[in-house]
Amino acid sequence: MSEIDLTQYKGVWCFGEVRHGKLVTQTYELLTIGSRIAKELNEKLSVVLVGHNLQGWTQELLEAGAEKIYLLDHPELENFTDEAYTKALAELAAKEKPNKILIPATTVGRSMAGRLATILHTGAIADVTDLTLGPGTNGAGGRALNAIRPTYGGNLFVTVRCEKCRPEIITVRPMSFPKAARTPGKIGEIVNVPINPSSWNLKTKVVSYAPEQSSELDIGSADKIVSGGRGLGKPDNFNLVRSLAKALGAAVGSSRPPVDSGWIPYRHQVGLTGRTVKPKLYVACGISGQIQHLAGMGQADTIIAINRDPECQLMKMATFSVEADLNEFIPLLVEEIGKQKN
Ligand SMILES: Cc1cc2nc3c(=O)[nH]c(=O)nc-3n(C[C@H](O)[C@H](O)[C@H](O)COP(=O)(O)OP(=O)(O)OC[C@H]3O[C@@H](n4cnc5c(N)ncnc54)[C@H](O)[C@@H]3O)c2cc1C
Repeated sequence: MSEIDLTQYKGVWCFGEVRHGKLVTQTYELLTIGSRIAKELNEKLSVVLVGHNLQGWTQELLEAGAEKIYLLDHPELENFTDEAYTKALAELAAKEKPNKILIPATTVGRSMAGRLATILHTGAIADVTDLTLGPGTNGAGGRALNAIRPTYGGNLFVTVRCEKCRPEIITVRPMSFPKAARTPGKIGEIVNVPINPSSWNLKTKVVSYAPEQSSELDIGSADKIVSGGRGLGKPDNFNLVRSLAKALGAAVGSSRPPVDSGWIPYRHQVGLTGRTVKPKLYVACGISGQIQHLAGMGQADTIIAINRDPECQLMKMATFSVEADLNEFIPLLVEEIGKQKN
């Protein structure tokens, strides 16, 4: 890689992910950390939106802290493909030379970041949970950006720096930062970037999109989650978890073993290789509390553990620990909740 003039790169960008017509909430989490870094660097905070019919999000994003918004809006970008979205973002970044690009570590963001880094001949740091400026230098006389991320299955946290790479591309793990507060009426600059995807000779095309038909609450946004683990013993016992979730108005989560065994789809998995959740209430049924599970739910406000083993990690750290056989306890609890409701 040839030496580049690092001083040319200015500004903090957040990739605003619009998924099937909705802006994902992680964009507001990026704005919290993006705005902190931009202020410390005295650089501009921008959001880049790629997709179609994007104008509707601009005011919210300005109010959430963005100073400038780039719109890469085209009918051919209505549905996400790695190839087209990354191409759009890479063309703009090559021209504008941002210093940092923050991308949510969602499925879309994780998929794009490596491809983007390759096109721009730079480095990407994945799945970051915190960012600080300094210690260390950034190769251009300023403070280095230190990216903190879990490694070795969540047993260690490492600090990674890309001192000679620009732009620095970073994917940020969902729920690592609170959502940015809004300042009503705030204004900023909106740039409609002219793009022509037809000229990109794209090899991938979305033919159609059919959303999954499900009435289940999504664990990513639920206030209450009831999760089941290997202690359920068999797939049918997820009905116990579902009945408790229904009684509480909660979403259904899972540790990894039931997902690996095919008892429940992956979208329910909480943890290091699943999803990070931060509900007000997390009920763990037959889950021991290995570090990889805690990485996904350890920040819940109130944790209730139901387990036969009082010595397991989740029972020790829970707000309320219930030493019981879940096969006996959950039906009693559901019945009691029903009585209380009546
Ligand atoms: C790289 C890597 C990534 C990983 N990512 C994840 C991840 O994202 N999410 C995740 O969850 N795990 C993940 N894991 C797996 C993790 O290490 C653990 O194996 C897993 O979390 C254990 O799940 P568990 O608690 O359901 O099962 P166990 O650890 O087997 O615990 C079962 C619990 O059920 C209790 N129990 C059994 N029967 C009953 C009963 N009848 N009533 C009440 N309690 C009962 C037991 O006492 C025990 O505490 C990962 C591992 C690695 C190496």
